[in-house]
Amino acid sequence: MSEYVEDNSHSDDSGTYDEWIPSFCSRFGHEYFCQVPTDFIEDDFNMTSLSQEVPHYRKALDLILDLEVVSDDEDVEDKDESADANGNGNGNNGNGAGTGTGSSNKTMVNRNIIGHAAEQLYGLIHARYILTKPGLQAMAEKFDHKDFGICPRYFCHGMQLLPCGLSDSIGKHAVRLYCPSCQDLYLPQSSRHLCLEGAYWGTSFPGVFLKHFKELEEYVERKNKETYDLKVFGFKINDQAVSGPRMKWLRQYPVTEEDWEEFNKCEFEMPSIE
Ligand SMILES: [Zn+2]
Repeated sequence: MSEYVEDNSHSDDSGTYDEWIPSFCSRFGHEYFCQVPTDFIEDDFNMTSLSQEVPHYRKALDLILDLEVVSDDEDVEDKDESADANGNGNGNNGNGAGTGTGSSNKTMVNRNIIGHAAEQLYGLIHARYILTKPGLQAMAEKFDHKDFGICPRYFCHGMQLLPCGLSDSIGKHAVRLYCPSCQDLYLPQSSRHLCLEGAYWGTSFPGVFLKHFKELEEYVERKNKETYDLKVFGFKINDQAVSGPRMKWLRQYPVTEEDWEEFNKCEFEMPSIE
């Protein structure tokens, strides 16, 4: 840990660059991110197994913590392979040694690649941080300010949404928004949020959030739970009618391959009478 402090002081001398985390979170389209404090990232326990999930882990981590100041077009030396090998073998001491000293296996890696790795790493750290008490608090402030948007469903009366991942690993699904009132998922309203990686919030966040803030459950309970019933001239539509209350299952989609075949037939062909 001591080398972080030393390195930090020398980078402060330049005094003209932006800190990585605040500038990443204030970027256009990054409104759903909260700022993870550096002491959370500096705790090796919180970083467990992330070195295997993100390429150029050590360089990316240094970039996030502002320990590495390189201009945009400059290439940086990659000591990751040796650092990771040491890190996996010897734990924290190995990682430290890898950063401090050079290695025989030096390769040059473009700054943009490190930048991309840093974004991935920060996203995965972010997914872990927002499940902690201070992380939940930071997300609650954003929730109160409606930073994640509101539910488009009429009967949810502008309920605030929560970001949610459909997978905890990178590259599978973009972020979705969960409404605690109707308990459904929605796509972000703005195109700038449509491609955000869902794993940066993770699958557990809305569940942990709602369990942590008990008062929210009451607030959701008070919300109108009505569903819209179609009527004709004020009369309820018969249960047996196609557009009657049975239409609930019309919103469901086929599961098995046979169901899909039948579904497609009904949708696009006239079924044969024989
Ligand atoms: Zn809703």
